[in-house]
Amino acid sequence: MPECEILVHVRGRDPVADAMRKELAALRKAGESFDARQFFAALEARLGAAEGVRRVLNATGVVLHTNLGRAPLAGPAIAAMTEVARGYCSLEMDLESGRRGDRFGGATALLRELTGCETALVVNNGAAAVLLALSAVASGGEAIVSRGELVEIGGGFRIPEVVAQGGARLVEVGTTNRTRLPDYEHAIGPDARVILRVHPSNYRILGFTEAPEPARLAALARERGLVSVEDLGSGALLDLARVGLPGERGLRQAVADGFDLVAASGDKLLGGPQAGLLLGREDAIARCARHPLMRALRPDKATLAALEATLRLHRDPELALREVPALRMMAEGAESLSRRAQTLLTLLPEAARAEAVAGDSLVGGGALPLARLPTTLVALHPENMTAEELAARLRRSRPPLVARLERGRLLLDPRTLAEGEIGDAARAVAEALA
Ligand SMILES: *Cc1c(COP(=O)(O)O)cnc(C)c1O
Repeated sequence: MPECEILVHVRGRDPVADAMRKELAALRKAGESFDARQFFAALEARLGAAEGVRRVLNATGVVLHTNLGRAPLAGPAIAAMTEVARGYCSLEMDLESGRRGDRFGGATALLRELTGCETALVVNNGAAAVLLALSAVASGGEAIVSRGELVEIGGGFRIPEVVAQGGARLVEVGTTNRTRLPDYEHAIGPDARVILRVHPSNYRILGFTEAPEPARLAALARERGLVSVEDLGSGALLDLARVGLPGERGLRQAVADGFDLVAASGDKLLGGPQAGLLLGREDAIARCARHPLMRALRPDKATLAALEATLRLHRDPELALREVPALRMMAEGAESLSRRAQTLLTLLPEAARAEAVAGDSLVGGGALPLARLPTTLVALHPENMTAEELAARLRRSRPPLVARLERGRLLLDPRTLAEGEIGDAARAVAEALA
């Protein structure tokens, strides 16, 4: 059978033979008849289960779950990505003239329109954007950063180390909780190159705190001939008040405040593919574009296609809210969530001893750690199994279901399950308990 030949070719003889034995044994045990198509589908799934990146059902309620691949993409972004993946594309060709074109032309035009920036660049992720910015404009000099913003974002990305990697010397100013404009002013010496503002990402300092207005900081840098850089992290284009998350600084705000370079992440609050955005002034962006690191950090055609498609949706906030899954999930209302939790509840087997409880979803991705998105959770209390055991079984189901474990309870949040996935989740629980 050709299917079999391909499988052996791609996966290797021994793993395929082993999976076949197991699948046949499972068929025999279930007393089911042999259907070639079903058999090969099951075989693929069984072989897939042993390796690498694959689709999972996210029932954790963490919308931008870094361990689960962050933002699910919008339909148009998936279509654009697939289209260019299948064949060739105009990545670096100007089709008007037939000459070499600008890889970032499409994304730059959209980012200008959407944020008011002079120009832009795209790299592989937010971390790359920050590293490139510092390498290009701070190297050989000093970068001034508030002590309240010397954060670790996760994955070992620590601002003091990134500044060092960028070839700059870190000058800390202020204190953990309070930093004022004169603290920055007094720290500007002959070697100062950059004032860096960093979004606190995954933690907050509350209470007796102070920080200068961002626009004042950008203006100070300009007056003293320094480059102002803001590591915004998330990069919201939509006013997040619309999804019940007020007070988050977006891309447009950072550009309007006058920062020369603004670094942001494509797969956080923008809801696009993993990418890093650098927006800002012509001269500062040109220095980044010329830097040798740029070649090492540039994204591929599929990322750019998906990013451009996501940005196009953001031209219309209503459309973005409806079509960009991460935004739609954040915006889902209490009634809809409660209804979907009830649907899940009715599909679950008796043995799950499930009940609906009030709770919160999280934004995730190191963004808005204190934001609570009220939801209805489905809590499972199986009789003959601990929550941990059930969670482990669910992670082994096909597709794997990742649930939330909290104080000995197993919780399923409908917010991060797509409409068609509620049934899959219920099936996974039924099988895990059988
Ligand atoms: C997330 C984050 C980054 C890194 O972005 P990635 O796209 O995850 O690489 C950088 N800075 C801040 C403040 C962040 O929150």
